[in-house]
Amino acid sequence: MTQYGMTIGGRSVKGEHSFDVVNPATGQAHAQAPDCSPAQLDAAFESARTAYRGWKDDLDARRAALHAAGDLLMAKANDLAPVLTGEQGKPLQDAAAEVFGAGFWLKHHADMPIPHEVIRDDEAAYVEVVRRPMGVVAAITPWNFPLMLACWKVGPALLAGNTMVLKPSPYTPLTTLAVGELLASVLPPGVLNVVSGRDPLGAQMTAHPVPRKVSFTGSVATGKRVAAAASDDLKRVTLELGGNDPAIVLPDADPAEIAPKLFDRAFANNGQVCSAIKRVYVPDALHDDLVEALADQARAAKVGDGMEEGVTHGPLNNAPQRDRVAALVADALARGATAVTGGGPVEGPGFFHEPTILAGATDGFAIVDEEQFGPALPVVRYSTVEEAVERANGTHFGLSGSVWGADADRAWEVASALECGTAWVNTHLAVHPGQPFGGVKWSGVGTENGTWGLEGFTEVQVRHRNRL
Ligand code: NAD
Repeated sequence: MTQYGMTIGGRSVKGEHSFDVVNPATGQAHAQAPDCSPAQLDAAFESARTAYRGWKDDLDARRAALHAAGDLLMAKANDLAPVLTGEQGKPLQDAAAEVFGAGFWLKHHADMPIPHEVIRDDEAAYVEVVRRPMGVVAAITPWNFPLMLACWKVGPALLAGNTMVLKPSPYTPLTTLAVGELLASVLPPGVLNVVSGRDPLGAQMTAHPVPRKVSFTGSVATGKRVAAAASDDLKRVTLELGGNDPAIVLPDADPAEIAPKLFDRAFANNGQVCSAIKRVYVPDALHDDLVEALADQARAAKVGDGMEEGVTHGPLNNAPQRDRVAALVADALARGATAVTGGGPVEGPGFFHEPTILAGATDGFAIVDEEQFGPALPVVRYSTVEEAVERANGTHFGLSGSVWGADADRAWEVASALECGTAWVNTHLAVHPGQPFGGVKWSGVGTENGTWGLEGFTEVQVRHRNRL
């Protein structure tokens, strides 16, 4: 079985113990990853602390290193794609796009200006507001986009002058471990340390005395634990958590035209995207046409092992997640909803679930109120747009949402009433390294990407020179 090392202080380090990594397409263990010991975690944080001293003082070197890191990821996208597909399940072409995109994210950040403002310059005083790095960052990622979400943190954190200890999910440690080893050739030792392990490694990181910042992407439940743990010594936190994104279809929308787009943004990565469309609100008059058009899309999807040519949708990443999606669908069906297509898990090895379009589910059904994070989409009827907005906003979530209609100005107006971090019009899931991304309510604290995300890896310092 393939074994990847952790990267600590620029060296590849084996674990004293290791754990199995399962291929979700087969349900079989296909690789092993190191289980980081407390002493190894101490060593990783210590090497990050040591590296911080030199790293924080040379912005040009940081920009050059991030460019080199981004170039390397882009060049190795096709080599790393099978590693990512093998542990995560996504089709090979999507895996290659994730690795390539992660490299693009690093290169974009390599060139970003670091905010710096003169707020007073007169006879009495000169006052600047600058952004200083925080020190060592603990970064923790989930299993849906292991590498992309890691690079959303690595790019800005390292550009700002911080160093990092990064931990991927135990479901998907391999690509991040491989990238840690790869980037050791272009980053100074200790700047980026990668550790892996089963829980409670994440909790040990948030409780560790060295990091000054925890950047976490994952579920709401874990995010709340991270916030509580970080509060003990007032570590700064950014929390990118779950979503239950609504898409509101306005009465002037064309179901045939928007269905492929809605399907694409709901079933991307097999529905395992924090900001995928997770419920569609549609007026009564368009309901049947839209449901049929979405079902046609779902029927055309090719579900299978992501390593196989032509597969568009792989397995769910892990058995508990497949079981959760199946349970939410079964609950909706038991309460009177209809699976227009799909409706259950796929028999056989691996963690597959049929792409499912549900009609007849509504608010109060768990699959509408909660985050399903999988290939099952409820299409919910509404009577008035005002009511649809109220229902879209009526959850604890607030990651993103979208409004779809022929009159884009009207859709824009409706979108502005959504209580969420990103409100899209006639699109969804449109992200960019220069555009902030984050959630309100339980969907998160703080933002990633753009100047706003970069600022999250800094502290404000006021420099005030008296002139009197
Ligand atoms: P999860 O919360 O179970 O795990 C996330 C990470 O936290 C893993 O690395 C895990 O090992 C670690 N962890 C577990 N317990 C911990 C603890 N007590 N302290 C610190 N770390 C701990 O989430 P998941 O199931 O891996 O990912 C799916 C969730 O992530 C979904 O809810 C999804 O919406 C969310 N997500 C959010 C975003 C975003 O940007 N908002 C992006 C992707 C995924």
